[in-house]
Amino acid sequence: MTSNNETLFARAQQSTPGGVNSPVRAFRSVGGTPRFITRAEGPYFWDADDKRYIDYIGSWGPAIVGHAHPDVVRAVQDAAVRGLSFGAPTEAEIEMAELICRLVPSIEQVRLVSSGTEAAMSALRLARGATGRDLIVKFEGCYHGHADALLVKAGSGLLTFGNPTSAGVPEDFAKHTLVLDYNDAQQLEDTFRDMGERIACVIVEPVAGNMNLLRATPEFLQTMRRLCTQHGAVLIFDEVMSGFRVALGGAQSLYGIQPDLTVLGKVIGGGLPVAAFGGRANLMKHLAPLGGVYQAGTLSGNPVTVAAGLATLALIQAPGFYDRLAAQTTKLVQGLSTAAQDSGVPFCADAVGGMFGLYFAPQLPVSHATMMECDKEAFNRFFHAILDAGVYLAPSAFEAGFVSAQHDDAVIADTLTAARKAFAVVA
Ligand code: PLP
Repeated sequence: MTSNNETLFARAQQSTPGGVNSPVRAFRSVGGTPRFITRAEGPYFWDADDKRYIDYIGSWGPAIVGHAHPDVVRAVQDAAVRGLSFGAPTEAEIEMAELICRLVPSIEQVRLVSSGTEAAMSALRLARGATGRDLIVKFEGCYHGHADALLVKAGSGLLTFGNPTSAGVPEDFAKHTLVLDYNDAQQLEDTFRDMGERIACVIVEPVAGNMNLLRATPEFLQTMRRLCTQHGAVLIFDEVMSGFRVALGGAQSLYGIQPDLTVLGKVIGGGLPVAAFGGRANLMKHLAPLGGVYQAGTLSGNPVTVAAGLATLALIQAPGFYDRLAAQTTKLVQGLSTAAQDSGVPFCADAVGGMFGLYFAPQLPVSHATMMECDKEAFNRFFHAILDAGVYLAPSAFEAGFVSAQHDDAVIADTLTAARKAFAVVA
C-alpha cells in the first residue's frame, strides 16, 4: 500500500524540483522517500503517516529548546497580533543586537538578516570592501551558504551529491576563492607567505558541521588568527551552526579566539528566519548607511522572527543549560559507541556541546580527506534501520546531528534501544 509520505512525495515532484525546497531533504544520498512532517513537539516530530520520530536534526540546528516550546510560540503569537512586518525599526531589534553583543564579546556591532547564506555573503562583501582586496580563503568541506563565491568545492548537500562546484557560478567569480585543507596550518602559512597582501578574509567553520562533525585543532585556528592579524586580513568565523549550539558564546568562546567578524543564524531565530553578521565596530562602520558597502533586506529584523529569537535566547541563558545539553549529547554518543562495539561495527562518535558526529570508521576523522573515508553504505543502512525504529537522523553521512534541551534520559534510552536494532542490521 502506498504511504501518505510516498503520495505527497510524488505530488511534490510535479510542482517543485526534486520535491523539496532544500536539496538534502530529498534523501538523495540515503535513498528512499522523504518524510513529510505534519507537527512537532519537544524532541519529536510526526510524519504524514502519523509515525512519531525522535528528531536529531532539529530543523538543522535551530530547535535547541525543543520543538514548539510554549514560550517561543507565545512570543510569536503576541508579536504577530501587533503586526507582521513594518519596514521601519523596532525596539526588539535593539534588544536582539544588544543581547548578541553581550553574549558574543567579539561582536561590537551586528546587523540582522534573514538567512545564513545572506549573512555569510554580506560578511564577505564587508571584508572585501573594508580591505579593498578581492581574494577570500575558505576550506574544503566547510559550507557557508550558497552565495556564488562560496560555492567553490563547498560541502553539505553538494558534497553529498559528489558534485564539488555548482553549475551557474562563473569561473571569474570562483577564481577569487582559494580553497585550502581544513586543519592544515602549514598550508595556511604558505598561502599567506605567497599572497597575504591580496587576501581580504579567511572564512571558517570553527567547529565544522557540514562534513559531518569535525573539530578544528587549536593550532589551526590560532595560526589563522595570527596570519590574519599580521597581513591585515579579516578573520570570519561562520558560527551559523556552532553559534549558541556548542556553547553560549559559540566555538570562539571554547577556543578563546576572537574573530573580526562572526556569522550567526539557526538558533538565533528559534525556528524562524533570523541570521546576523557582526564584529569589530571599525569594520561594521563600512556598511551602508554609514559607509560604502551596500547591504539591505525587506524583512531584516522582522518583528515576528525577532520575537522567536529573543524568546529562544532567553531560554538558553538559564543556568546550567549548556552543561545539561552537553551531558545529554555525550550520553547519546557514548551509548551509540557502546552499542556499535557490542555489534562489532567499526564506528565512533564525537560531540561538542549540543552537536554530534557519527562516523562509520575505526578512528575519529581529523581532516576532510579522512572524513571522506567513512563507510557511507554502512551509514545508509544504519540510517534506514534507525528511521524505521523511530529515530530521525540527518539523511546524509556528511551532516552533524543536533540534540535539544528536551532530549531527556528517557528519550536517549529509547534512541539507544533503536540504535541497537540498527547496528545489528549493519553488522
Ligand atoms: N553557514 C553554515 C555553517 C551553515 O551550516 C549554513 C546552513 O546550514 C549556512 C551558513 C547557510 O545558512 P542558511 O541555510 O540559513 O542560508
